[in-house]
Amino acid sequence: MSTFTQNLICLYQIAVVGGGLSGLSFAILMARKGYSVILFEKETYPLHRVCGEYISLESLDFITQLGISIDALKIPIIKKIGISSPSGTYLSQSLPLGGFGISRYLLDYSLAKIATKEGVTLLEKTPVNDVIFHNNFFEIDTSNQKYKANICVGAFGKRSNLDVRFNRNFIINPAKSKRNFIGVKYHLKLPFDNDLIELHNFEDGYCGISRVENDITCMCYITTAENLKKYGTIENMEKNVLFKNEFLRKYFTTATFLFAKPVTIAQINFSEKTLVQNHILFCGDSAGLIAPLCGNGMSMAMHAATLLASEVDFYFKNDFNRAILEKNYQSVWRKNFKTRLFVGRWIQYMFGKIFITNIVVGVLKYFPKIVTLIIKNTHGKPF
Ligand SMILES: Cc1cc2nc3c(=O)[nH]c(=O)nc-3n(C[C@H](O)[C@H](O)[C@H](O)COP(=O)(O)OP(=O)(O)OC[C@H]3O[C@@H](n4cnc5c(N)ncnc54)[C@H](O)[C@@H]3O)c2cc1C
Repeated sequence: MSTFTQNLICLYQIAVVGGGLSGLSFAILMARKGYSVILFEKETYPLHRVCGEYISLESLDFITQLGISIDALKIPIIKKIGISSPSGTYLSQSLPLGGFGISRYLLDYSLAKIATKEGVTLLEKTPVNDVIFHNNFFEIDTSNQKYKANICVGAFGKRSNLDVRFNRNFIINPAKSKRNFIGVKYHLKLPFDNDLIELHNFEDGYCGISRVENDITCMCYITTAENLKKYGTIENMEKNVLFKNEFLRKYFTTATFLFAKPVTIAQINFSEKTLVQNHILFCGDSAGLIAPLCGNGMSMAMHAATLLASEVDFYFKNDFNRAILEKNYQSVWRKNFKTRLFVGRWIQYMFGKIFITNIVVGVLKYFPKIVTLIIKNTHGKPF
């Protein structure tokens, strides 16, 4: 017997790598169905993540079913959107579906507690170094121990050490520097309407602002890595680029900042991703990331978790046919998300180019139905 095999001591039906929204939702659903589930998360809860923290209402029923009460947490419901162009044109209208604001600090932590209560073995501070498919089982390698599972779900977000380890398509063919983005988030105290989300455009990026719990305002922006490189530091870039948008300048100069420094993330790209590789089933951003300005990534991550949960349940209850599981999951995922991702990529490409954004916002101001149509095409139905 090899040393590797001797070290394998824990066997689970399902292993989930990554404890963000998709991983936690999937783990809770499967534990409730009675499966043995282990979830590996490299960080410790609660934690702040780069995210605009606006969730479209399509997920409200699902989040409530998971055990989170929006009423009890006094979460703001968001019904209006305001969009500014870099030159200062401002359009405002109601949102077709709307959303709510909740910090990832609170949301992910609440889900982690529910997962543990439902019987998920949740290992925090446990990065997975490798996953190997061998004799119809996955061998999951952490620094402390190796684990074995029948199903492995990759829910490790936009970019992880494992993407590199698995040589995923977007690692082998990296995005051009203009298509490589960074994200920055702050929590602020400032006067801001509870039912409003604003999207402010600036050169090579845009910034979302909306309320979360406890009268906190979340401000989160995305821009190109090139923009940061050009100005050297985040502060310098903000002063030289974001401040040119008068709305952003006002917020930056009048708000009280609640973090000592911003939460940041680098190497974001929107390339198409494989949905299954080495028999690992990808979910959430690991399967595909929608442009943040669609305000819909979190709903997609949770919705994908429900789709995957029913496919994996079918697999265990029926024929243990891995090929059919993989085929069905890819098909149902594409049916639900392919068009949205396409529209999101198109919008991401258009916004941030000063000339185009000024024209688009200027024109759309007079055609609210088109704005509604674009928003509808990036959103799904309640699930
Ligand atoms: C700038 C920006 C703003 C956004 N704003 C919004 C918004 O307002 N509304 C919205 O709906 N969506 C928004 N999104 C998208 C949203 O944040 C994501 O779609 C969502 O977080 C996806 O959840 P996930 O579970 O797939 O990944 P994540 O939430 O990123 O979770 C992945 C987890 O995997 C863990 N992990 C990674 N590697 C390993 C490893 N090797 N071992 C163990 N654990 C590992 C990570 O620590 C992390 O906890 C935004 C995204 C960006 C970039």
